[in-house]
Amino acid sequence: MLHERLSSIYENVLRRNPGEIEFHQAVREVLESIGPVLGKHPEYAESKIIERICEPERQIIFRVPWEDDRGEVHINRGFRVEFNSALGPYKGGLRFHPSVYLGIVKFLGFEQIFKNSLTGLPIGGGKGGSDFDPKGRSEREIMRFCQSFMTELYRHIGEYTDVPAGDIGVGGREVGYLFGQYKRITNRYESGVITGKGLTYGGAQVRTEATGYGCAFFVDEMLKARGTSFEGKRVVVSGSGNVAVYTIEKIRQLGGVVVACSDSSGYVVDEKGIDLDLLKQVKQVERQRMNVYAERRGSQAVFVSGRSIWEVPCEVAMPSATQNEITGRDAGLLVGNGCVAVGEGANMPTNPEGIRVFQEAGVAFGPGKAANAGGVATSALEMQQNASRDSWTFEFSENRLQQIMRDIHARCLNTADEYGMPGDYVAGANIDGFKRVADAMLSLGLI
Ligand code: GLU
Repeated sequence: MLHERLSSIYENVLRRNPGEIEFHQAVREVLESIGPVLGKHPEYAESKIIERICEPERQIIFRVPWEDDRGEVHINRGFRVEFNSALGPYKGGLRFHPSVYLGIVKFLGFEQIFKNSLTGLPIGGGKGGSDFDPKGRSEREIMRFCQSFMTELYRHIGEYTDVPAGDIGVGGREVGYLFGQYKRITNRYESGVITGKGLTYGGAQVRTEATGYGCAFFVDEMLKARGTSFEGKRVVVSGSGNVAVYTIEKIRQLGGVVVACSDSSGYVVDEKGIDLDLLKQVKQVERQRMNVYAERRGSQAVFVSGRSIWEVPCEVAMPSATQNEITGRDAGLLVGNGCVAVGEGANMPTNPEGIRVFQEAGVAFGPGKAANAGGVATSALEMQQNASRDSWTFEFSENRLQQIMRDIHARCLNTADEYGMPGDYVAGANIDGFKRVADAMLSLGLI
């Protein structure tokens, strides 16, 4: 339910951004949480802070022409939404996926404002990407696409302005090509212009692992707060990309058993626990589909297509694929099978009905803004190392990440308590993330 004033702000967002349903969903979730804050802080309403937060500072849409290996010309659309720079340079990844359009980029950019704020680090919120489909494209095609994309994007970004990174479809390989083209066009070795770089050219230890490790650390904290742990727990992790792989790795180190993971073709159940080396070989080295994992693993693994991975019984669920992958029905299945905790590795993977089902059942629910903030937090650490021309060890960086995740967890719980909603991580994350940005915007004047 929305507070009266918030409801009219939401109506306005719907009217001003027609058809952008994912953006509407992301805005609504935040507005549903911050009603109690407005009562305590009339100054936010007086300065129209919420209306300003819902309107991006700048939205850039551009043409990306490129040539495939057969000489055919393709035209894609590129986006960068620079949403909010009250806390620092715009910061957020780039997504290359055919589903990308302005509404997806705006939902991701909006989420990023609050996520980045929650990390406590000096980063604003932004996001970008393209409707380019990397599936089945050769190395050279990927390189040419990245070069064309950066040939337009470079004029809008910079270490003090806007710092992209990866997201779905953009990993170390793409970041390398993007940075290479930026460097070539500008004739500047400006390491801090992009994060997620390779270790040979200014990248940071633990950045690759950070989103997954961070999400596992966050869920570990939620379990500890309830007097339990990952030890011996059955876990299902959806997806098999960068977030999923490193979530699985850390859960295993923390004593949990990941029995299933997936890609867009289906899911695999592997009762003895996913074989991480095989998964990395199949998905990261060979870029193959999930059925290949099952074939190589032999009789103990089963590949299932055309069904929901959430029907696999588990005690902890870590949705790490994409938005709206857990519906109300999926959440009902998970609760019925005894799931006690959910940590969102992806951005907005649980739809509003799913969140309601989890919360009503008393499941510890860690929203993406908090649970997957370790990725962008470690990006901020990469920026810090680039600015000081330093590089930290793996161990030191992982300890920093773990401490950041503990702090985010504590902040969510304390804020939820303060506003009379104990254990509600959604409210805690939204309120705490919002307040830091709102206070900075008040201090900076009418920007
Ligand atoms: N795409 C990641 C996210 O959703 C990381 C962004 C970054 O490191 O800038 O938070």
